[in-house]
Amino acid sequence: MDERAVNCVKMRDCPGCGCAKVVMEGSLMGYPLQRCTGCRLLAVSNPPDDASLQDIYNKVYVSGGLYQPHLKQLEEIRTLGASRQGFYRNHMFLKRFKPANGDRLLEVGCGVGAFLVAARNAGWMAEGVDLSEEALQASASVHGIPVHHGTLETVSLTNAPYAALVCWEVMEHLVQPSRFLARARELLSPGGLFVCSVPNEGSKVPRYVKQLGAASVPPIHLNFFDRQSLTRLFEQNGFIPVSVVSQKILWSMAGRSEHMVRWFFDQCLALVGITEGPHLFAVARSKSGAV
Ligand SMILES: [Zn+2]
Repeated sequence: MDERAVNCVKMRDCPGCGCAKVVMEGSLMGYPLQRCTGCRLLAVSNPPDDASLQDIYNKVYVSGGLYQPHLKQLEEIRTLGASRQGFYRNHMFLKRFKPANGDRLLEVGCGVGAFLVAARNAGWMAEGVDLSEEALQASASVHGIPVHHGTLETVSLTNAPYAALVCWEVMEHLVQPSRFLARARELLSPGGLFVCSVPNEGSKVPRYVKQLGAASVPPIHLNFFDRQSLTRLFEQNGFIPVSVVSQKILWSMAGRSEHMVRWFFDQCLALVGITEGPHLFAVARSKSGAV
């Protein structure tokens, strides 16, 4: 990685487009941030190495109790045969893109497999990848869907190509999103779908994001996307953006009980499109040929 010291802060080439023209843009939780002047991506300048990240994740997710909702989903799969999916996962993807017979779908960051089960129920030949061995071991025998332990960049996948690759709330965690997208292109068939959601840095309702706590700031989140930088990320890495939209429904967000009037006001503004919600949902298609 090309690193250089600017004002005593080490910056790196943009992890989204590889551009060297990055400028400092403050810091968050003691981590300096840099913005690319080419694609606009805001990223942590000095992400921890892989070993440190593994420790950090264990602390925040396991000790911090963030694993609990996944156990609830697993119980729903066990007892009801499926766990309910959110509005956008249903409407941005499952209801919108129907698989042809035998079309394969790969979910990166599948956790206990709640979305994999929903995708299988919609007709996809589903398969998953996750970094959490515990989540995979706890769930594989419950849903019976093939799952692999590792990262997209390193795991061996013999069933490629896939017609769709889905990653919900994953790309904000990546040290190098461009490497992730390069691997996604290798695994997708030409024209294959890349579907993701990420937190929206362009959201005008930041207090909701703040209330999400330690799981949504560095070193857990390393990239901060808005609609423009996410669109550019696709264009720079061999994908054609199909849609990049911000969340317009804030039902699931924290804060509504303490600040009901303010929450209702935000909800109205988001519904009519005056403000952007705290998440982006995107669909892109893999280009054939070289980037
Ligand atoms: Zn860039």
